[in-house]
Amino acid sequence: MHILLMGPPGAGKGTQAAELVKAFQIPHISTGDMFRAAIKEGTEMGKQAKSYIDKGQLVPDEVTIGIVRDRLGQDDCKKGFILDGFPRTVEQADALTGILKDLGLSLTRVLNINVPASDLIERAVGRRICKKCGATYHTKFNPPKKEGICDECGSELFQRADDNAETMKNRLSVYEASTKPLIDYYKKAGLYTEVDGRQAIDKVTADLIKVLQG
Ligand code: ADP
Ligand code: AMP
Repeated sequence: MHILLMGPPGAGKGTQAAELVKAFQIPHISTGDMFRAAIKEGTEMGKQAKSYIDKGQLVPDEVTIGIVRDRLGQDDCKKGFILDGFPRTVEQADALTGILKDLGLSLTRVLNINVPASDLIERAVGRRICKKCGATYHTKFNPPKKEGICDECGSELFQRADDNAETMKNRLSVYEASTKPLIDYYKKAGLYTEVDGRQAIDKVTADLIKVLQG
């Protein structure tokens, strides 16, 4: 099962990917998570990525495509993967087609989690993430049992630096201009299915699993 999870920033891709990992036991590959890990490690690539991420801009294609090429070439991706946050441009989508062809793989389905723009700033600003295990919460829509503490592992939660209203406005306009055209791209490829992301988290999961098993 080689799945591409699409949707605007804050649509619920990471949240749903965690559920799909449990359901299908395949790795979750998030370019955003990979960049944040590189920033934390203080690598050169991390420093370069940070300057774009902090402004809500896209990290240049050549950097992003390179890290995805390396990751998809690892052995655990042979049995499948859930790609989240990549591709975000037509150039990245073309590169992905080439990478998969080289690996003898192809996409099973492209799932778009559809959420109206008006909901997305509130979703991002209220997002909290576990420092240790990466579990995602929302202060209002999916709060942890104990404020600021992860239900799964008991570690502290943090707020992403780019999860503020100002940066989110940039991220949403970048999405409209550069990433939304990929909907037509994958419709033309016959791979595209849309799921209503305004539903409760478990309902969205059930819809995604239904599509994948159908
Ligand atoms: P993405 O990975 O697409 O940016 P996330 O999965 O991190 O999005 O979700 C963004 C925020 O919205 C998180 O705080 C998450 O808890 C919350 N969220 C995710 N799915 C839903 C949903 N169906 N309804 C309400 N809030 C949600
Ligand atoms: P995300 O975690 O998916 O919300 O991504 C956070 C930020 O990382 C984005 O706003 C971009 O700056 C950067 N990023 C993540 N994925 C990509 C990508 N495929 N191409 C370019 N930049 C990306």
